[in-house]
Amino acid sequence: MQFDVVIVGAGHGGAQVAVMLRTQKFEGSIAIIGEESELPYERPPLSKEYFAGEKEFERIQLRPARYWDEREVTMLLGKRVVAVDPAAHTVATDGGETIGYGKLVWATGGHPRVLPIPGGDLPGVQGVRTRADADADAMKAASETAGQIVVVGGGYIGLEAAAVLNKAGKKVVLLEAQNRVLARVAGEELSRFYEKEHRDHGVELHLGVCVDAIEGDTRVTGVRLSDGEVIPADLVIVGIGIIPAVAPLIAAGADCANGVRVDRLCKTSLPDVYAIGDCAAHVNDFAEGAEVRLESVQNANDQANVVAKGIVGDEAPYHAIPWFWSNQYDLKLQTAGLSTGHDQAVLRGDPATRSFSVVYLKAGKVIALDCVNATRDYVQGRMVVSAGLEAGPEQLADIETPLKELLSV
Ligand code: FAD
Repeated sequence: MQFDVVIVGAGHGGAQVAVMLRTQKFEGSIAIIGEESELPYERPPLSKEYFAGEKEFERIQLRPARYWDEREVTMLLGKRVVAVDPAAHTVATDGGETIGYGKLVWATGGHPRVLPIPGGDLPGVQGVRTRADADADAMKAASETAGQIVVVGGGYIGLEAAAVLNKAGKKVVLLEAQNRVLARVAGEELSRFYEKEHRDHGVELHLGVCVDAIEGDTRVTGVRLSDGEVIPADLVIVGIGIIPAVAPLIAAGADCANGVRVDRLCKTSLPDVYAIGDCAAHVNDFAEGAEVRLESVQNANDQANVVAKGIVGDEAPYHAIPWFWSNQYDLKLQTAGLSTGHDQAVLRGDPATRSFSVVYLKAGKVIALDCVNATRDYVQGRMVVSAGLEAGPEQLADIETPLKELLSV
């Protein structure tokens, strides 16, 4: 088998490369190789509407099956790429096939981190990364019989899962190793707000705790903390991040660090091999030129567009403002920019109203916003971050002044 473009990973980024190539009138052959047996689907609903059983799987597919057929995108699903031969321009699958490529796009995302502790792989301990993990029926069945569910990890996925399970009437205990939730991605104000929300809804939150072991013989029965306390659990959901799925590229000699390193055109150090999305470490203009790996649909899609355009000869460096969202209870969080490294956080509005924003500054410049039930701030915040607005805390805190007005001051 030989294709002009081979895309490894049938997720957000991989699908978008194929979509954009055809939009750009690329006439060569395209194949997508995917480890999962599903056609590309949206991942965010796995901890939101799909997990809650509110959306059918068909409704979270990125495109219907006929779309791929009509555009002659060959789907090679249920196959894992295990090796890349950059000299021969081929990849090998776990089923022993060798597939040749003109250009290779690596869009494999990451595998969920597992708890590296005794019992971490017991039945009843699971991540939320794939449709199979979050399968509404299986999860419903497991959680219906579960008396108490422990969620390990107070990042977005853990918090979203806790909210869904809590809404379904389950008793949920959430464990976070740091002394606040969302410590990696948001400022303290936002962390404290979400902690209060979860507690008010009845989630039992333990901060600054270390999980030592998962207890149980044939199935999980509890979670043991480092202080010896055992929290009973019939189901444990683990959301502690991902490990970029780049082993075959490392073995092939690609320059890898935290993920596979790419340049501004999303090219790896291997000839004719691109990488995008969760697995790609890149220099980001909105991180002040730092090398980062972003785990967001925005990043996967925008990098996919850079690659597809590059392949058709319309090269332009990646420059897109990062954005993200999270739904918990009736709260819609929208984030613009990257707050990492901020030296000041300004509260805009009153968290008690459940509609407010946090504006992050670095050296007087607005670098990011977290907007809770505040879509206007978010929309205008994207403009403000893109423009690198410099504004005083009093101006930013004044909710009577729309953010975009500060641009013209
Ligand atoms: P993925 O979409 O993960 O796709 C990678 C695919 O490659 C997978 O199907 C994987 O099985 C496959 N693969 C891996 N290795 C191989 C191999 N060797 N051979 C073949 N196939 C392989 N982002 C947001 O912006 N907003 C949200 O609200 C949000 N919520 C999320 C909720 C959950 C539960 C999860 C898991 C993620 C969420 N994200 C969210 C993150 C977002 O889904 C990812 O950033 C995005 O999916 C990244 O796209 P990708 O193409 O890099 O990887």
